[in-house]
Amino acid sequence: MSLYFNALQLCKAPDDNKQIAYLYGEIGYAYLSQEHFAEAENYYNKALVLLRQLKQNKDVCNTLINLSAMCRQQKKYTSALTALNEVNEIFQVTHDTAIEGYYYLNKGVVLETMGNIDSAAYCYRKAYDIWKLLGKESEVYKATFNLGYIAEEKKDYNEALRYYHLSEAAARKYGSTKEIAHVCGTMAEAYAAINDFKNAYTYLYEYATLNDSLSKSDFNSYVVKLDKQFENEKNRETIQAQELKLQKQRGTILFVIIVLIVVIFATVAIFSYLTFNNRIKKKVDEAKTRFFSNVAHEIRTPLSMIQGPINVLQSKIDDPALVHQLSIAERNTQRLNDLINQMLAISKVDAAKYQLNEHIGNPIDFINELVLLYDAQAKEKHLAFSKQVEHYTQNTLFDSDALEKIIGNLVGNAIKYTPQGGAIGIEVSSEAYDEATGFIINVWDTGIGIAKKEHTQIFERFYRSEEHKEAGIKGIGIGLSLIKELVELMNGTIEVESEPGKGSVFTVKFSLKHPQKATAVTKETTEDQNTILLVEDDPDILNFNKLLLAERGFNVITAVNGNEALAIFAKQLPDLVITDLMMPDKGGIGLIKGMKSNPLTDHIPVIILSAKTSAESKTEGVVEGAQVYLSKPYHPEQLVALVNNQLQVIHKQIAHFRQQAGNEQKTIEERFSGTDPFTQKCYTIIHEHLDDAQLSVEMLAELMNINRSHFQRKIKALTGYSPSELIRIIRLENAKEMLLKKAGNITEIAYLTGFTSQSYFTKCFSDHFGYPPSQLPGK
Ligand code: ADP
Repeated sequence: MSLYFNALQLCKAPDDNKQIAYLYGEIGYAYLSQEHFAEAENYYNKALVLLRQLKQNKDVCNTLINLSAMCRQQKKYTSALTALNEVNEIFQVTHDTAIEGYYYLNKGVVLETMGNIDSAAYCYRKAYDIWKLLGKESEVYKATFNLGYIAEEKKDYNEALRYYHLSEAAARKYGSTKEIAHVCGTMAEAYAAINDFKNAYTYLYEYATLNDSLSKSDFNSYVVKLDKQFENEKNRETIQAQELKLQKQRGTILFVIIVLIVVIFATVAIFSYLTFNNRIKKKVDEAKTRFFSNVAHEIRTPLSMIQGPINVLQSKIDDPALVHQLSIAERNTQRLNDLINQMLAISKVDAAKYQLNEHIGNPIDFINELVLLYDAQAKEKHLAFSKQVEHYTQNTLFDSDALEKIIGNLVGNAIKYTPQGGAIGIEVSSEAYDEATGFIINVWDTGIGIAKKEHTQIFERFYRSEEHKEAGIKGIGIGLSLIKELVELMNGTIEVESEPGKGSVFTVKFSLKHPQKATAVTKETTEDQNTILLVEDDPDILNFNKLLLAERGFNVITAVNGNEALAIFAKQLPDLVITDLMMPDKGGIGLIKGMKSNPLTDHIPVIILSAKTSAESKTEGVVEGAQVYLSKPYHPEQLVALVNNQLQVIHKQIAHFRQQAGNEQKTIEERFSGTDPFTQKCYTIIHEHLDDAQLSVEMLAELMNINRSHFQRKIKALTGYSPSELIRIIRLENAKEMLLKKAGNITEIAYLTGFTSQSYFTKCFSDHFGYPPSQLPGK
C-alpha cells in the first residue's frame, strides 16, 4: 500500500491520469484484501471516475467487476448487480467477448449467492460457452464447476458429474493441480452420493495425492466420512433388502392367512352343510326307527295270534295242497316276525340297551342248525346252497340271538340278491386259543353284487342300493346296519367284497370266550347250604356250571351220567338235580325214572339242561317228572334263577307242611293226611306207636324200610324236621288233642303219648306250645 501511495505522489503530471486510475484500482484491491471495504469502494470509485474519463472501457469493466465482487461479499447484492449492469452496457457496445465472459461468470456468482439458482445457472452456461470459445480453460473450469455445484444442490448428481468432468478436463488442460484436486474431491463426494463407491474412491485417492495441503488426518476423516456413508448405504441397502424381504414375507403371510380364512370358511360351510344334512338324515332315521319299532310292538301280538293257529292247523291238516299253503303262510309270518325282532333289536341298540346275552354252548352246532332253516328257501329259488361249517366241539359263551340275526340276515340276503339258478354258500372256520376261539364266517353268493362305491353305505341304516331299488327288489335296509352294530358289540368286524353281476362275499370275524374252568371250589359245606347234583357228560359245561353254582353259595356234587348219579344217592341226597338228557350209561330220562321210582329220591326236583330242542324231548322229560326244561345254549343267569326257583318251591313246601302240622282247626289225623305219602306213612307208624316210649329213629327207619341216614335226610327234606323232632311233635300234638278231649290227666296222657316222665313231658310241651299243659287254653 505504501509503495502504491509513493507512486501516486510521483504521478502529478496531467498525462499521468491513466497511471493514477490504475494505482487507485490497485489500492482499492489492497484495501479489499484487508477487508477495509469502505476504503476499497472509495478507491474503486476514484479509479472509475478517471477511467470513464479516459474511456478505458476494458479497465472500467474490470474495476466494476472487482467492485461488484466486493459488494457481493458484503451482501450488497443490488450494488453488485448495478456494477455488473454497467459492464453489460459497455460490452454491448464494445463487443468485448472476454468482458462478456467475466460479466456472466460474476453475475452467476451474485445470483447464486442470492439464491437465484436457475438464473445463476443460465449465466454460468453463457460464461461456459464464451470461455469455451475463447479457449480460456481456467474460466471454463470456473463456469462448469459452478454449474456442477448447482446441479448437485438440486440433487441431480448425474448432471453435476457431467459438469464436474468438464471442469476436471479444463483443470487438467491448464494444469492447475489445486483445481484438479478440488474438482476430484468434489467428484468423489458426488460419486459417493450416488453410491458409486468405486469412482468415489478413485477420485478421492487422486484428490488426496494431488492436494499436498490436505493433511493425512483430513484425508482419514474424509475416508471415515465416506466409509460411514458407504456403511450407511450398505445398511440402508441391507435394511431395504430386509424390508423388501419382510414385505415379501408379509405378502406371503397375508396370502396364506387369506387362503386359510377362505379354506376355514369353506370347511365350516361344507362341514355345517354336511352336519346339517347328517343331522337331518339322523333325525329322519331316528324317526323311522321309532316309527318302525312302535309299529313292531303293535304288530307282535296279532302276529303271534296268526302264527299260533297256523301251527295248530298244520298239525291237523293232511291235505298236501293245504299243507303247502300253510307252510307258505307260516314262512311269511316267520319273516315278518324276524323283521319285527330286528326292528326291536335296532331300537334297543339305539337306546344303548342292547346287552350281549352270553349263553354257554357250541356255536358251530348252533350255526349248523340255523342254516338248515334256509334250505327250503334256497331250494325254492333253485339255488345251490353250499355249507362248509368246520366241525368244532368246544363250548363258548355267545349271544345266540345276535348270532342268529347275523347269520340269518347274511344268508337271507344271499338268497334274496341271487337270481334263480345261482349259488350261495356259508363257510365257517375257527381257531381256538387258550381263553377264546376266533371265528371267520364267509357268506357268499353269485348274485347281482354291489357297486364298489356302495360298499360302505350298505351298512348304513335304511340304505338300499339305487340299482336294486330300481330293479324292484324289496327291502328296507336295516339288516346289514343291525348286523354291523351287533358285530361291533361283539368286538368283531364285517366286510364286503363284491362286483356287480358277479356276486358278493360278506366276511364276519369275531372271537368268543371259553367258559371259565372250575378250580377253587373247596368251600366247606355247611348245614343250611343247599346241595345240587350236576349230571353232565360235557366237561366244559360241567365245570362251568359247577363254578357258577359254587360261586352262588351252593354245595355242588357232580356225576357224568345217570348211573353215577343214582349211585351217589346211596351216600348223599341232594336238594336239586340238574341233568343233561343225552349221556352214555343212562341218560337224563333214565335217571329221572330211577329217581321217581325210588321213595328216597322221588321228592328231589329235577332241571333238564339239554341241547335237544324238540317239543317231544321237552315233553318227555316233564312227563317223567322233571320240573323244568332248559335248552342249550342257555344263559347262566337263567340257570341260576331256575335253581333258586326250585329251592324256593322246596322251602315253601316245608313251610306249608309246618303250617299244616300246627293247624289247630283240624284233627291231627287230618293234618297229616294232606302231606306227601312218605310223611303220611311215617305219621301212621308213629301214631301206631304213640304210647311206645321205645320208638326210636332207628326203629322208625326200620319200620319205614329205609336206611337210617337216608331216612333222616328224606324227612328233613320233606318236613324240615329231623326224625326225632317229628316223633316228638306228633306225640305232643296228640297229647294236646287228648288233653283238650279230657281223655285223662296230665300224667296219664304223658304216658299215653310215650313220655316216661311227667316233668320231661311238661318241659317238652312248654317248649313246643309256649305254655305248660296245666294252662292249656279252653281246658
Ligand atoms: P335290505 O336287504 O332290507 O334292503 P340290508 O341292510 O340287508 O337291507 O341290505 C342293504 C342293502 O345292501 C340292500 O338293499 C342291497 O342293496 C345290498 N345288499 C345286501 N346284501 C347283498 C347281497 N348279498 N348282494 C347284493 N346286494 C346286497
